Amino acid sequence: MSYVRLKVHHLNCACIQRLTIHGQQLACHVLLIETPSSGLVLVDTGLGTADYANMPSRLGYMFAYGYANPRRDPKLAAIEQIKAMGYQPSDVKHIVLTHMDLDHVGGLSDFPAAKVHLHATELKAAMERRTFKARHRYMPAMWAHGPDFQPYAVEGERWLGFEAVRELAGLPPEILLIPLFGHTLGHCGVAVQGEDGWLLHAGDAYFDPREVKGPVRKCALKVGLFQFAVTTNRRMRFYNQDRLRSLTADHPEVKLFSAHNPFEFPDGLQPAAPYIPRTAPAGSFA
Ligand SMILES: [Zn+2]
Repeated sequence: MSYVRLKVHHLNCACIQRLTIHGQQLACHVLLIETPSSGLVLVDTGLGTADYANMPSRLGYMFAYGYANPRRDPKLAAIEQIKAMGYQPSDVKHIVLTHMDLDHVGGLSDFPAAKVHLHATELKAAMERRTFKARHRYMPAMWAHGPDFQPYAVEGERWLGFEAVRELAGLPPEILLIPLFGHTLGHCGVAVQGEDGWLLHAGDAYFDPREVKGPVRKCALKVGLFQFAVTTNRRMRFYNQDRLRSLTADHPEVKLFSAHNPFEFPDGLQPAAPYIPRTAPAGSFA
């Protein structure tokens, strides 16, 4: 095992105003990782430039104006935050996806030359869009630019109680893909050995930290109902939440966080933003 510790930046790339937990808007937690020889690596992208430019056409009316209603703030796009840090967008050579839901891949088109790593099962589900649910969560416009996808099959090694954990092509061994199926068919977590130890980005494996942290599973009503609606395999989701609960008990040194929980950023609660209601133009739903 290598002893390189990677510099990791935590970005919030969307404020989901109408989905709240304990009164706070959901975030889109994205990682930007500095690597010694693989350039910059993103874990998920959140919403991107094109999404902020035209939310209804990219995200659908219900997400743009209905149950999610993201804050219209283009500066939240990962590309804008990366430029503000002094990097070029072309410095992002790799993107690792937890899954292909629209709120995780909207920024792919801002980094068209990056290699995109993900589980093969997830790529297949997103390309086929077989079910009603799949057709509303996977948006082909977000990969119309033809990303350089690098899919991985279910094989790998054990890592802290998880199976089929694997390193990724062209990336350092301090970045691992961890199958956490349930939210979607090929949903994964991404572990990174950062400067202060291992981080585990659990994607949408849970929304409320009490689902996986603490002795008894609990979940706030609103995000609980949302998860009920969007989960693909409930049995697998609960199985993986049990494994994450064991991880937090047995390995408290691993910093576990989910994609949307605003309380799990290292600098404290994000985002601290006022609610800005948006309503659809007249006739939008006609
Ligand atoms: Zn999500």
